[in-house]
Amino acid sequence: MEPIIATNELKKVYRVGKVDVPALRGVDLIVQEGEFLAVVGPSGCGKSTLLHILGGLTSPTSGHVLVDGNDFMIMNDSDRTRFRRHKIGFVFQRFNLLPTLTARQNINIAQHIQGNGFNPHRFDAVVDMLGIREKMEHKPFAMSGGEQQRVAIARAVICEPKILLADEPTGNLDTENSQIVLNMLRALNRSFRQTILMITHNPEAAAVSDRVVRMRDGRVVSN
Ligand code: ADP
Repeated sequence: MEPIIATNELKKVYRVGKVDVPALRGVDLIVQEGEFLAVVGPSGCGKSTLLHILGGLTSPTSGHVLVDGNDFMIMNDSDRTRFRRHKIGFVFQRFNLLPTLTARQNINIAQHIQGNGFNPHRFDAVVDMLGIREKMEHKPFAMSGGEQQRVAIARAVICEPKILLADEPTGNLDTENSQIVLNMLRALNRSFRQTILMITHNPEAAAVSDRVVRMRDGRVVSN
C-alpha cells in the first residue's frame, strides 16, 4: 500500500529580514491512508509549519514531500491551491466560522467553493455523525464552542478530503467539549476511514489516536 503522506529530509527556513529561522530541520514522516495521528511537542518545534506544508499553505525549502501522489517540490502556486481545495480539510483552534452565516450555510459554502454541488447524502451523514442536526439554522454566536467546532469539522470534511488537518482543535474548549470533539474525530476516522493529522497539547489525544508523533527542534524525535 502506498502511504498517503511521505516526507524525506523535509526542511523549512523562514526568512525574517536578514535572519534565517529554521522551522523544520529534516522531517521524515510516513502516514498510511486511514491513520489518525496526533502531533505533539513544545511550542516552536515546527508542528504548525509541518501541517501548513502538508496542507499546501506553505512551500517547503528543501527535501521531498509527497501527499496523495503529488510532489510539492514541482508544484506551482495554482496547482497547490487546486490540490488544497480538493484534497485537504482544515480545522483550527478558533473555529473560523463565518459569523453572519448559519451552521448549514457555513458547511455548504465549502461544497460551493469546491464546485462539486450539494451532496445531500454526505451532508446528512456528516451532520448526524457530529450530532449537530438541531443547530443547522443557528448562527455561530448562538452555539457553544464545542458546537461551533463540530460545525467547523463538518465544513472541513463535507467534500470528502483525503486528509483532515487539525491545528489544536480542542485548544479553545473546556474538558467536556474537548472530549466530545476528540471522540467525534475518532468516529470520523473509524466510520469514513478519514486520515487525520492533529496537532495537540491535549493529554487525552493519545488515547483516541492511532499514533503519537513527537517533535522537537524541527525534527520528529519519536514515532
Ligand atoms: P509550533 O507549531 O510547534 O509552535 P511553528 O511551526 O509555529 O511551531 O514554528 C516553528 C518555528 O518557526 C518557530 O521558531 C517560529 O517562530 C518560526 N515561524 C513560524 N512561522 C513563521 C513565519 N511565518 N515567519 C517566520 N518565522 C516563523
